[in-house]
Amino acid sequence: ASEGPGDRIKMRTFVVADGNHTIITKALQRPSQRTSDKIMSIVRPIIDSVRHRGDAALLEYAHKFEKATSLASPVLKAPFPKDLMQLSPETKDAIDVSFENIRKFHAAQMEPKPLSVTTMPGVECARMARPIEKVGLYVPGGTAVLPSTALMLGVPAMVAGCRNIVIASPPRADGSLTPEIVYIAERVGAETIVLAGGAQAVAALAYGTESVSKVDKILGPGNQFVTAAKMLVSNDTSACVSIDMPAGPSEVLVVADETANPAFVAADLLSQAEHGVDSQVVLIGVGLGDGQLRAIEDELHSQASALPRVDIVRQAIDHSVTLVVDGVAEAMDLSNRYAPEHLILQVRDAQDVAELVQNAGSVFVGPWTPESVGDYSAGVNHSLPTYGYARQYSGVNLGSYVKHITSSNLTAEGLRNLGGAVMQLAKVEELEAHRRAVSIRLAELDRLSGT
Ligand code: NAD
Repeated sequence: ASEGPGDRIKMRTFVVADGNHTIITKALQRPSQRTSDKIMSIVRPIIDSVRHRGDAALLEYAHKFEKATSLASPVLKAPFPKDLMQLSPETKDAIDVSFENIRKFHAAQMEPKPLSVTTMPGVECARMARPIEKVGLYVPGGTAVLPSTALMLGVPAMVAGCRNIVIASPPRADGSLTPEIVYIAERVGAETIVLAGGAQAVAALAYGTESVSKVDKILGPGNQFVTAAKMLVSNDTSACVSIDMPAGPSEVLVVADETANPAFVAADLLSQAEHGVDSQVVLIGVGLGDGQLRAIEDELHSQASALPRVDIVRQAIDHSVTLVVDGVAEAMDLSNRYAPEHLILQVRDAQDVAELVQNAGSVFVGPWTPESVGDYSAGVNHSLPTYGYARQYSGVNLGSYVKHITSSNLTAEGLRNLGGAVMQLAKVEELEAHRRAVSIRLAELDRLSGT
């Protein structure tokens, strides 16, 4: 239940007896996701309207949702005016440091050369990577400005060699965009910035408008309207657009033992709890006694109370939980079951424990690695699978901007070696034209060799 402003900010705590599945499953439930029918029914007409009325609809929605009534054009085209990217030297330096680290880490993910394998004598199979030509990057901007998301989406697109990068982000009420995003858009070589948010931005990227080029893939996090719109357009074959991954509220799981500094543990939990009321944070204490738990609780309360976003934190903490287990293996078992977006390991021999991770978006190892370094500047990506999707999805990476094309190249000898198997399987499937495409060639080879 929600508490008053003076009440103690505290997570529910369970001491988990080994194998008590009911408590664990209930405690690790995420707040319900809201891409409900209601959201879909709000989003659908917005998408249709942009699809059919293009820029005019984009402007209307910017007026309605962002109150940007003075906005006259829904796009900025490169080259972007320098006066729209005026930054303090400190901010510019911080962006440049982060940009370079993200560039380095994603450039290292580039495949050095096409893969090529001879599967049988004369049968060569190859695979080559090619950038997705046009990508649309959604940078949220409703409740907070998020230039870091522009970096995390834009830098890998640039490294991958995507030809057209379109960035969409909601304008401020005066019709402008935060200068950090314009600066990053220029550095990654974006062709257009769409001054729109929500479902209308997603629709413009998916279908194109008079001034927005249609893209092949849409990446980026956002609220429930953005997520629902991405799901709808990616299911429409006429849009022929793909998306990065299903998105949900941010979450972190911290595994801490008695070597962890309670102040660090509390700070890391709070750095996710402040994202939004539906964020979830989980602490798994390994063999922590009452005194150690109390020290973390005290830190959590005092640090949270001093945060500007304390009201958001309070609500996020309401559905967050501490579980206490006996050993690190059990802790990692629970973590792998939860599949957190962010996993922080503040335990003895943290690097060894990291080897036990099976499901997580991104892991932060040891006492000197707060999750914030990954959010901004270390080089790893912060666009990560939430809601348990870390079981099957990777976070955004260079591969998110690339598709693979395979090729086969057979010599006459190769076709002789393989032809029998192909013809037999075509016969089983009763696809005579398939069989004949081989037999006609084998007959020609026989004729040429005079047999
Ligand atoms: P946003 O840009 O996602 O959404 C703003 C838009 O929502 C508005 O432009 C408007 O079009 C639309 N909207 C608002 N109310 C509406 C209504 N009643 N009907 C129709 N459309 C409406 O910004 P936000 O709201 O601040 O949300 C950002 C989200 O992104 C947060 O949930 C945050 O946690 C998430 N996020 C996630 C990551 C990650 O990596 N997982 C990173 C950054 C942000």
